[in-house]
Amino acid sequence: MIKRAQGPVIAIDGPSGAGKSTIAKLLARRLKYAYIDTGAMYRAIGWKATREGIDLADEHALAELVSRTKVTFNGGSADPKVSVDGRDVSGEIRTPEMGMAASAVSRSKTVRARLLELQRELGADGGVVMDGRDIGTVVFPDAEVKFYLDATAEERGRRRYQELKEKGLDVELARITGEIAMRDLQDSRRDIAPLRKADDAILIDSSRLTVEEVLERMLGEIGSRRAGRV
Ligand code: C5P
Repeated sequence: MIKRAQGPVIAIDGPSGAGKSTIAKLLARRLKYAYIDTGAMYRAIGWKATREGIDLADEHALAELVSRTKVTFNGGSADPKVSVDGRDVSGEIRTPEMGMAASAVSRSKTVRARLLELQRELGADGGVVMDGRDIGTVVFPDAEVKFYLDATAEERGRRRYQELKEKGLDVELARITGEIAMRDLQDSRRDIAPLRKADDAILIDSSRLTVEEVLERMLGEIGSRRAGRV
């Protein structure tokens, strides 16, 4: 376990494939904060619901599933892990299918309410970088620093394709780009906590920036915001 430094909640929201998790992980490492990947929690519920053959649009079935499911997230290590009922599913949830399953179950009000509770608990002491879709708008609307990380649809598709390819998955660029577009549409149009930029979030378009450039920009913004508060 890395000892968590004291500090604020840093929220990073944005669409799929914008680079949130890569950046959030590096930012957390630089600041010695914990990294909380909220997408992994929705994927974990999607994983279990899929395994049990539950209709991902059935609110009652999902509510029942959530009531007997324990999702745990260990954000204290350099390589955070998500578990479902004690089983580490961190690797299994990283497929395009689980991304779609996560997006489907994330429309459920019971699933969102349960995970919101867990996310607020994990961020209660600050010193966290949390990424997702609704961190700056719903989970921590008072987060000290909020970023909305975006990139063009083509670039996001290309990055996600590259990432999956490197993991040895047999994927097609057109299909991945299409799935990402569909997921973003679904995430932005849902009734509860849709994907949207908080009014006070700093927008960063990473399409033409390197990881290091995005990181430097964020560190600069965090530094100046924090300096302004002293
Ligand atoms: O970030 P990731 O691609 O792992 O997220 C998977 C899905 O989980 C998203 O497409 C979205 O539907 C859902 N999600 C959410 N709210 C969050 C994080 C993820 O609805 N805070």
